[in-house]
Formats: sequence, structure tokens, C-alpha cells
Amino acid sequence: MTLPPVPAPFNRPIAPPAPAGYLSPMPAEHFSHIRTWVFDLDNTLYPPRMRRFDQIEVRMTNGVMTALNVDRAHADHLRATYWKRYGTTLAGLMAEHRIDPDAYLADVHNIDFSVLSPDPVLARRIAALPGRRIVYTNADAPYAHRVLAARGLTGLFDAVYGVEHARYRPKPERAAFETVFALDNLDPTTAAMFEDDARNLAAPHAMGMKTVHIAPEPEPADHIHHHAEDLSDFLSRLTGDD
Ligand SMILES: [Mg+2]
Repeated sequence: MTLPPVPAPFNRPIAPPAPAGYLSPMPAEHFSHIRTWVFDLDNTLYPPRMRRFDQIEVRMTNGVMTALNVDRAHADHLRATYWKRYGTTLAGLMAEHRIDPDAYLADVHNIDFSVLSPDPVLARRIAALPGRRIVYTNADAPYAHRVLAARGLTGLFDAVYGVEHARYRPKPERAAFETVFALDNLDPTTAAMFEDDARNLAAPHAMGMKTVHIAPEPEPADHIHHHAEDLSDFLSRLTGDD
């Protein structure tokens, strides 16, 4: 007896097993249904090696020291506590000390952008993504626009959302995502999220989004579909742009 030929796509060679919790290393087929591409900003649209976030870390500690009149060690301790308990330093300052978010955000993000350089290859790869492209950051939108300008990414995004659009609730809270996605009219089941903080992919995954963790080290988890060290490399595999 002769068996009929195995139809494509089931006749491909079997790939080596992916790490637990991840889909196959060839991502394009998992993204064919995506109509909206959501990008975090800091340490996602530029790599952490640019160390721009270091400046913000210092300014956040200084901001806590000034606002609460505490020393540096105490301020660092509070920041770590608030980050764990509330998602961000700002959310903790607002919840426990009624800090004015706009003054805090303006001070923290008043930093030197010269360490960021334009990335024309990344710009080309983002531009090649079909559908709607948006930025959603726990920083504020005016700051996000400055980062995008420094990276040569201005004009590539249909919308830029900051923590002010989520009524100052931060990622990873699901309510924050829901507020921003409602503003954008976004359908999570046809959207993908790119983010360096693995915590911030849990709610998007639960809402039906495709999740991509962009970070030097993988953190395998059920709510992370893909990991990539470098956003630009990952997008090149999606768009076929080498
Ligand atoms: Mg980030």
C-alpha cells in the first residue's frame, strides 16, 4: 500500500524544540493575522546598551528624594518597593503621597537625548509592518515624541500613548491597557505587543494579543510567545527585510 504524499505545510523537516513557553523560531506565520503593532518605548525602541534609561533612573531617585525629603538610600528603597507593588515609581508616589504626576514626569524626563542615535534600518523595518502602528509607554507622550525623534522614527506611528492617556495607571495593570486600547479602538485579538518588561506582557496576553519580549535575556513564561534580543532583528524575520 502506498501512502498519499504529505500535504504542505506538514512535510517540513521537524525543527529542534523551542524553549518551553515559546512558539517556533520562525515567527512570520504567527503574525499573519496582526493588524495593529504596539511598541513600548524605553529599552524597546532603543537597546538598553544605549544606557539612556540610566539618566532617568538617577532623576527618578532625585525626584523621590526631593518630593519626600528622604535620603538617596531610602529613595532607592521606595522606588524598588513601588515598582514591585504599583508597577512604577510614579504610581506609588501618587497612591501613597498624592504627588502631582505632570511635574514629576516633566522633571524625570528632562534628560540628555544625545546618547540616542537614529536607526534607519529599524525605521525601514517598522515602516514595512502592515496595518496600524502605535507606541504605548509608561512615560508621557511628549517625552516619547522626543525619543522617537532622536531615533529617527518620527512619522512612523499612527498614535503615541503615554501614562497620561491611561489616567496615570501604569502598565502592567490591565485597566491601563484597556483604557489605552479603547482610546485607540484596538482589537487585541489582531494586535501584537513588543515590550522589554516581561510583566507588561501578561495583561496583553490575557486579552488575546501576540506577545514579544525584547530583552538581552529570555524569561520564559506562559504569557510570552516570543523572545528576541533585538527588536530590529526580530522585525527583519517578520518582514523578510535583511
Ligand atoms: Mg520599556
